[in-house]
Amino acid sequence: MSSLRTIIVGGGISGLATAFALQEEAAAKGVSLQCTVLEAGSYWGGKIVTHRIGELVTEAGPDSFLSQKSAGLELCAKLGLADQLINTNETGKKAFVLRAGRLHELPEGLVSFVPKQMGPFLRSGLLSWTGLARMGLDTVIPRGPADGDESLASFFRRRFGAQAFERVLEPLMAGIYAGDAEQMSLKATFPRFFELEQRYGSIIRGMMAAKKNAPPPPSGRPRRTMFVSLKNGLSDLVTALTERLTQQGVELRLGCRVEALRVRSHQAGRWMYDLILDDGSALSAESLVLATPAYVSAELLRPLTPIAGGLLDMIPYASTGTVSIAYPAETVASVVEGFGFIVPRVEERDLIAATWTSLKWPHRAPTDQVLIRCYVGGIGRDAILKLDDNDLLAKVRADLAALCGIQSEPVYAEVNRWWKAMPQYTVGHLDRLSQLDAAVSRYPGLALTGAAYRGVGIPDCIRDGALTASRILKDLTGERPS
Ligand SMILES: Cc1cc2nc3c(=O)[nH]c(=O)nc-3n(C[C@H](O)[C@H](O)[C@H](O)COP(=O)(O)OP(=O)(O)OC[C@H]3O[C@@H](n4cnc5c(N)ncnc54)[C@H](O)[C@@H]3O)c2cc1C
Repeated sequence: MSSLRTIIVGGGISGLATAFALQEEAAAKGVSLQCTVLEAGSYWGGKIVTHRIGELVTEAGPDSFLSQKSAGLELCAKLGLADQLINTNETGKKAFVLRAGRLHELPEGLVSFVPKQMGPFLRSGLLSWTGLARMGLDTVIPRGPADGDESLASFFRRRFGAQAFERVLEPLMAGIYAGDAEQMSLKATFPRFFELEQRYGSIIRGMMAAKKNAPPPPSGRPRRTMFVSLKNGLSDLVTALTERLTQQGVELRLGCRVEALRVRSHQAGRWMYDLILDDGSALSAESLVLATPAYVSAELLRPLTPIAGGLLDMIPYASTGTVSIAYPAETVASVVEGFGFIVPRVEERDLIAATWTSLKWPHRAPTDQVLIRCYVGGIGRDAILKLDDNDLLAKVRADLAALCGIQSEPVYAEVNRWWKAMPQYTVGHLDRLSQLDAAVSRYPGLALTGAAYRGVGIPDCIRDGALTASRILKDLTGERPS
């Protein structure tokens, strides 16, 4: 068979992981494939951006990934990065939540919903007696309907009451997505809670059963904490990927913005995808993966399938920002402990969360400095991103002063804005995805991947890239009937 061409648009982790999986699977199947990745920007990795300033390592975007979802760890191992993986510093594994202007330690039991640990619940002062009693009603109130979707806010208010939801669950869950829990889909963001309710009729009972039945940790493998990172920053994952892809003969092109997409009939049941680039040139391929944000893919796909364009338009995005600040250690040592804190929406602060980066991770700051990473923005809270760097930093520092008493002058600070960066899985997301898949599957060889669809985390993007590569290859080799 002559060499088939695949073009992947978007050089974030999703596009790069798709290219990697495509090469791997094509080689295993003996398929001759010519792969090109086109990236509009001037660097690879999309949201993954590490800055190294002397001994400081800051992350403008993601700073770690979940180890329970295996795709991230597996990719690191394949790229020879296993010895670079670092665990969080478990000795300081505490987290705090803001309540009425004060930071309260977040009891382990409140996060994992295990009622055996009622002591820490009571002592934390986070919930009133009535709030705690309302949480306990989860064990008796009936389960919700199995069909349809529900917002996170509606589900958790129904099961645990408004207090537990607003004071703890909202910042823990919606915060990850920089989202609004009133709009977020339970089934698309935290399907496990839906499953527990359906199976056990109670989240508390379900969590207890899951804990009892949990398999022992695998022996012989290094122990991993819930989140892991790379010693010198996550950009090392991107560098290792691009180096490997280059060795494998994948064509990697930066500064290539795809402006339009056309399709023409090629052979019976086969299409040729023509891409118009921003310099006016054109490229053609038998298969095409759009690993771009949903709003970019919407514009590219609209002329082919207006239905897909319309469905993609319905995936909203949140704009967020991260602010990394380093202080002389002696000026803040007494106020920072644990991993950091989260801020419920009801507290009406500019800050969404802060991580004591140099306490949480090794190798992120010299010993005489403390590195803090603050999160701002998100749905309904992104006005702060329009401020210039100095004003935005002043707001963040004012919050740190009010909440933690940090008054000293930083030795380093950086502001990173991410406009339209976090896709929001709103109620009905999974139904819309099915319709989108149906619309796109009319075009064999065409696929969509990325954070907008089946998971925003880095391991989700890597896993979805691999599934996409598999599907594309089946289309190209005729294994999947058109
Ligand atoms: C502030 C922040 C913190 C986060 N923290 C974490 C974390 O700690 N852990 C975690 O697992 N996840 C985290 N995430 C989520 C995760 O980083 C992202 O979901 C993931 O990196 C998205 O990867 P992607 O490849 O799908 O998209 P992107 O990284 O957005 O890549 C898409 C690429 O497409 C390119 N592109 C766009 N239009 C075109 C075009 N027309 N032609 C060519 N190229 C184009 C873009 O330039 C971009 O490089 C975080 C996200 C943000 C914003």
